[in-house]
Amino acid sequence: MPTIRQAVEQAAKRIDRFEAKLLLAHCLGVGRTYLITHDRDELETSVWQRYQDCVRQRAENVPVPYICGQQEFFGRPFKVTPDVLIPRPDTETLIEFVLSAYPKDKSFTLLDMGTGSGCIAVTLALENPLFKVCATDVSEKALEIASQNARNLKADVNFYLGSWFEAIPQGHIFDIIVSNPPYIHRDDEHLKNLTYEPILALTDGFDGLKCIEHLISHAPSFLNSNGRLVLEHGWDQGAAVRKIFEDQDCWNAIQTLKDLGGNDRVTTACLR
Ligand code: GLN
Repeated sequence: MPTIRQAVEQAAKRIDRFEAKLLLAHCLGVGRTYLITHDRDELETSVWQRYQDCVRQRAENVPVPYICGQQEFFGRPFKVTPDVLIPRPDTETLIEFVLSAYPKDKSFTLLDMGTGSGCIAVTLALENPLFKVCATDVSEKALEIASQNARNLKADVNFYLGSWFEAIPQGHIFDIIVSNPPYIHRDDEHLKNLTYEPILALTDGFDGLKCIEHLISHAPSFLNSNGRLVLEHGWDQGAAVRKIFEDQDCWNAIQTLKDLGGNDRVTTACLR
């Protein structure tokens, strides 16, 4: 059997070297520094076979988080499968904003719509234990992953199955509604590089603004007075999303926030 070093060398001919190391660390169940300190250790047959299978998948463009079954978000490991979108660092902009906008000495009710892996709902529930968090998804399989993540990370989140506001039990209203909805334009050239992720989580099949419009127009019935809607969107959708808010008379304090890359990423507004 090859040594750790030889296995990485061989894999690095087919896939990115850094990813080759990540995948081997995953197969061995160790951290990446272990690979350096044990580089002459010979691999067991079962590990070598598993590793070759991972490398083959990566060579076929399966994203690393789907191969490893995990992606870190806001410093915590989230289980992911092809039934959920892989959490992106962009979404941390939404998290940071919500945490900064609400004091930690008062309880607020919060709803995450289209939660996918649950990364937003679970992170907010853990970062501010005074948030009472609910989350929805139209996909039963996604909701199963989200509730597993909540369980594994010990977050208290109530989950509801259904399409957008149809999922919400009668009479429930919230202080804060957040969402990272499918916002990619159906003709966006990046979509063809995202073939392993659930298409329903990526695009509305139109201009990328249909779900955002739906959320902005229906949210007022599910928000308390002064309630807030916080939406993630594409880098080029800031002006369009602000316009959708402005076209409805009920919103004020409309504001777009930039992600770490300096792009428009999140737009928020408060109910008058
Ligand atoms: N941020 C993701 C991407 O651009 C898309 C997520 C979404 O549509 N909600 O790949």
